[in-house]
Amino acid sequence: MRVYISVDMEGVAGVVHEDQTDPIDPRHAGEYNRSRRLMTAEANAAVEGALAAGAERVLVNDSHWRMMNILAEELHPAAELLSGGPKAHSMVEGVELGFDAALFIGYHAMAGVSPAIIDHTYTSLVHEARLNGRPVGELAINAALAGTYDVPVALVSGDQALAAEARDLLGPSVETVVVKHAVGRFAARSVAPAEACRRIREGAAAALRRSHTPWRLAAPIRLEVDFTLTQMADMAELAPGSVRTAGRTVTFTHDDYREVFRAWRALYNLASVE
Ligand code: ZN
Repeated sequence: MRVYISVDMEGVAGVVHEDQTDPIDPRHAGEYNRSRRLMTAEANAAVEGALAAGAERVLVNDSHWRMMNILAEELHPAAELLSGGPKAHSMVEGVELGFDAALFIGYHAMAGVSPAIIDHTYTSLVHEARLNGRPVGELAINAALAGTYDVPVALVSGDQALAAEARDLLGPSVETVVVKHAVGRFAARSVAPAEACRRIREGAAAALRRSHTPWRLAAPIRLEVDFTLTQMADMAELAPGSVRTAGRTVTFTHDDYREVFRAWRALYNLASVE
């Protein structure tokens, strides 16, 4: 069995604020470096669960911000680490190499959900993203790309809002590991990191012993992105093939989700150009 693990930081136990997930501002380096250790420990717990279920190959993809967060020197020796960027498939880079299942660790709810720790969808520029009319977050956007390569999402870990989003999207077969209960955007009641790792390890092993169905969208696949400001849509609509469908909204439609994902990356990156 080959297991793919995408690891974000906002959904890690003990992490509640953007100051703790910010790799850029040196004022936050102390908190950020603590979060890196917590993130690495949860990634390793997922690796251990995968190995317990019989995995022979495990790839860990660093999926947060600049994607250089996981401490390589502390990585479980049975796993490979994919880090750095830009990566064409971003949070699910490497999933195209062929895997039996994916685990999404440290994930968070889509923009606009409350209470949920640091709810957002890739960037603060996105007010709402929709796929075939359904509001989606990083979970769905990445699960759909994994589904394109026949890889189902077997487990997600994060707060209770992410767990609800996962059950709603993927149905009851997905294992949801709740490591904290958000009480606001920047406040949560969290289990201890060691307990979070135990839940992830046991959840991953249990999830990988069940079968799961890849999540796919029916063609034609329509992506709609509502940006927070119209000037962002002014830039995003320059992406070839995209259509401005409302003041804040740019739409892209294609039968192949891999093209839709490319458009998604292009749209929100263009929107960030001032
Ligand atoms: Zn992140």
